[in-house]
Amino acid sequence: MVIYDSVLKKKVPFVPVLDNEARIYVCGPTVYDDAHLGHARSAIAFDLLRRTLVELGYNVTFARNFTDIDDKIIKKSFETGESIEAITKKYTDHYLRDMRALGVLDADISPRATEALDAIIEMIQKLIDNGCAYQSEDKTVWFDTSKDALYCSLSHRCSDDEDTMARIAHEEGKRHPRDFALWKACKEKDVCYDAPFGRGRPGWHIECSAMIDRYLAYKETEYEIDIHGGGADLFFPHHENEAAQTRCATHRKLAKYWMHNGFVNIGGEKMSKSLGNSFFVKDALRHYDGEILRFYLLGTHYRANFNFNEEDLLASKKRLDKLYRLKKRLYGIKCGTPEKHWKKEITEALKDDLNISKALAAIDEFIAKANEHIDATPKDKGFKLSAMGTIAWIDKLLGIGGKDAYEWFQMGMSKEHIIQIEALIEARNEAKRAKNFSKADAIREELSDMGIRLMDTPSGTVWERVQ
Ligand SMILES: [Zn+2]
Repeated sequence: MVIYDSVLKKKVPFVPVLDNEARIYVCGPTVYDDAHLGHARSAIAFDLLRRTLVELGYNVTFARNFTDIDDKIIKKSFETGESIEAITKKYTDHYLRDMRALGVLDADISPRATEALDAIIEMIQKLIDNGCAYQSEDKTVWFDTSKDALYCSLSHRCSDDEDTMARIAHEEGKRHPRDFALWKACKEKDVCYDAPFGRGRPGWHIECSAMIDRYLAYKETEYEIDIHGGGADLFFPHHENEAAQTRCATHRKLAKYWMHNGFVNIGGEKMSKSLGNSFFVKDALRHYDGEILRFYLLGTHYRANFNFNEEDLLASKKRLDKLYRLKKRLYGIKCGTPEKHWKKEITEALKDDLNISKALAAIDEFIAKANEHIDATPKDKGFKLSAMGTIAWIDKLLGIGGKDAYEWFQMGMSKEHIIQIEALIEARNEAKRAKNFSKADAIREELSDMGIRLMDTPSGTVWERVQ
């Protein structure tokens, strides 16, 4: 596989640290509010990477953290009166609920900062002991960037306004403008933990380095993990700082490859349809099925910026409908062996830095060819088995097309409406059993007027809304 490495700024072959292994860490959310579309995009992008590597035969270990101690969480707790634990539990649960609705697989390892305090404290102590960290008067522990010759070698983004930086540094009691807090000394109205270097709480950057080292890293290899990922906004300073901490504490490199996903822009006016200008995944899920959102967010290459608007989202749903329409034609058929040709086409596309456009184009082609084949030879059972197998394989790889094809087209209808339709279908079946065919026909007619089409299949009557 070839991936785009953000540090080298080019595509490079993926050669894992250890044969057939792939250890991936993606920076997760700070759990003080609901997940927004930016979180969804990042989660879906790296979910695709993970599924692709699994398909290619790698033994993948995937970690995503939850930052559950942070200024924003503390602020929210003081504002709302809710405890830190209640806030972080609620939003961690919400995040997992929303991501699962989007078909994002749960991480293998989901460390939380408050549960990794011993690993964090241990790493900070190492950095103090080897002279890479120092304490200011108030006992805050700072990372000394001047001790790391490779600082800035990751993002090359350390050329901000030096005067402003120096002034801030002076105010905060650090030695160099770029130094950052590893451990924030306890203040008033704060949440603090004991540590050998004084009561306080971890800075944001240290938790990822400490968690990777403790829970995910290979032992005694040049790199701790294979791929470190996150949103492009995390490249600097967050990832730069993570890399520096690990280098200085362990004398190893944090990750062999760095991957970053692009931003999500909301299309202003166009968004006012039903979502307003909400960035929240939960609001989008109120209007659209998670799989529709997933397919839409998946459709733009992960490195490009994403312009979210509902028109494109609906167009994207229509594209996904085609897959379900084919699946409907294959209703009741078991999954056979997926077609080698399409597996290869789709996998090859994804092997090229997750070229999703090419992969989806191959799926469109598969659907078109399959429909043609079924039109020409409707009784080719072997073909149908294999086409169904291909659809199941696509679901495993991309997380789309896994739902019941009939239910897919009933989406968005109210429960009452569905109950009413099913009652009429039952009445029609009863009329048929009683050989009252004129009544059965009349009911079929009534349903047709409601925009409902019936199909009598060997496994019973199925229905769909005429689109
Ligand atoms: Zn991180």
